[in-house]
Amino acid sequence: MEEERSLNFIEQIVEKDLAEGVNNGRIQTRFPPEPNGYLHIGHVKAICMDFGIAEKYNGVCNLRFDDTNPAKEDTEYVETIERDIAWLGFKWGKIFYASDYFEQLYDLAIRFIKEGKAYVDEQTPEQIAEQKGTPTEPGVASPYRDRPVEENLRLFQAMQNGEIEEGKMVLRAKIDMANPNMHFRDPIMYRIITSHPHHRTGRRWNVYPMYDFAHGQSDYFEGVTHSICTLEFEVHRPLYDYFLDQITGPNFAGLSPYGPDYRPKQREFNRLNITYTVMSKRKMLQLVKEGLVAGWDDPRMPTVCGLRRRGYTARAIRTFMDKIGYTKVEGMIDQGLLEHTIREDLKETAPRVCAIFDPVKLIITNYPESPDKPEILVAENIDGHPELGTREMRFAKELYIERADFLEQADNKFYRLSPGGREVRLKASYIIQATGCEKDANGNITTVFATYDPDSKSGTEGGNRKTKATINWVECSSAMDAEVRLYDRLFAVENPSADERDFRELLNPDSLKIVTAKVEPSLAQAKVQDHFQFLKQGYFVVDDDSTPQHLIFNRTASLKDNWQK
Ligand code: ATP
Ligand code: MG
Repeated sequence: MEEERSLNFIEQIVEKDLAEGVNNGRIQTRFPPEPNGYLHIGHVKAICMDFGIAEKYNGVCNLRFDDTNPAKEDTEYVETIERDIAWLGFKWGKIFYASDYFEQLYDLAIRFIKEGKAYVDEQTPEQIAEQKGTPTEPGVASPYRDRPVEENLRLFQAMQNGEIEEGKMVLRAKIDMANPNMHFRDPIMYRIITSHPHHRTGRRWNVYPMYDFAHGQSDYFEGVTHSICTLEFEVHRPLYDYFLDQITGPNFAGLSPYGPDYRPKQREFNRLNITYTVMSKRKMLQLVKEGLVAGWDDPRMPTVCGLRRRGYTARAIRTFMDKIGYTKVEGMIDQGLLEHTIREDLKETAPRVCAIFDPVKLIITNYPESPDKPEILVAENIDGHPELGTREMRFAKELYIERADFLEQADNKFYRLSPGGREVRLKASYIIQATGCEKDANGNITTVFATYDPDSKSGTEGGNRKTKATINWVECSSAMDAEVRLYDRLFAVENPSADERDFRELLNPDSLKIVTAKVEPSLAQAKVQDHFQFLKQGYFVVDDDSTPQHLIFNRTASLKDNWQK
């Protein structure tokens, strides 16, 4: 099924490197999540790139947990990240943690201090920020910038020994306060965190490296060749290279097992942004904590586990990534494209069944009251595809149909049931004609009456007779109740992140409606994560909490895009 597509720009870079024998033809990537939340579909774009490159070019992609901020990280997240990547169908080589390198990074920091390339700053974060200057104006040097090496060593050790309060001191790289790249203006290398133990190293460390000081070095220790990330890191790249310059080459032989010519390179591609959702872990955490969604795996969430529970398949998500591709330009992808991709995927595979959302009883007056044995019809799971299996549908005198499929008084544009009106086919069954209805005291229709033509059964010669409309039904005595959760987009506005209102005020009030539907008894056998098309309604998946006694289905997508203007 895979379409031929041209190489994306990262693949072109990799092929060029291979052709030139860079890094001896070795390809090694990594996916570096911070274990501070669940993976979302934005991460999947990076995952498809990192793992995809390794797969395509016989390389390896490792998983590296970027766990340098114990205040926000947890093993719960480590586990779910591994589970989600495996569900997507990717295989990592090894699992690393940035915390594996705390010892080496600390030693490097000491080395930087000894070489006069780092100093301890005692100013407040606000003072440091103020002194940074602007892209057009140089920054101001910290009064602590030129303190003697011995004092820096003593203070950094005091920071690590827990003698200094959190927030009171940082270790900064001494680079260039006038550099046009703001990231060179003495970036912070280390900060103190004593308020939270680390989920792996406990209380061993009181100082933790910043992203810029940890990431490139970790890549280098592991032997990463292509360090692929999103565009916002492009401005960090010179710093990534600066730190590597300090540790590569003959002076530092032995820090990486790949020899003096080896060097990792950072490359950047555009982030994924999708309309009608948010993709920041901070905002998603807020939605979860404040109970605005049912959890990280709420089927409205853009998380991998949410999408899975919603009924998205890993295959559809990967196809979507292939479609949108990788560029150097930030943009916004229409959620409609994601929905289109899952529809296309399920169209080929999801068995069709009847589910009646707003049932009214239909009595076929000329059908036998109590036949000798119940009549069993056979319907194809997908019309015209007998190879995809069939199912049995029990037929009888009393059925449920959709209330909207009957009108007591209709004009001739109405093709469904109406007394004295047209013939209508019951899906995979007989042709019927409405004769009348019965109402309660409030005028609500309680029963519809019809007659059937016994010679019109689908699959027989009479089954070829055409009608203008086909309607869905389930047999009353065997029908089962199912809770059906009609999910829709989480936000009512296209770009909640660009709105001046609080994002929580922008939630779509109609993102979840619950109905009790009458469904075919064949669904009693449905297992969690089984996909179906409820005829005329949309695509549905069996929810994780569904049991044979209490069936629950989640709407994955409607049959058509109802959001298109
Ligand atoms: P958030 O901003 O939601 O906290 P993050 O970027 O801090 O996300 P990380 O765990 O650090 O999350 O991300 C791991 C990897 O996933 C990084 O390489 C990052 O570039 C990539 N990534 C994160 N969000 C997106 C996105 N929306 N599109 C593409 N890649 C992304
Ligand atoms: Mg990050």
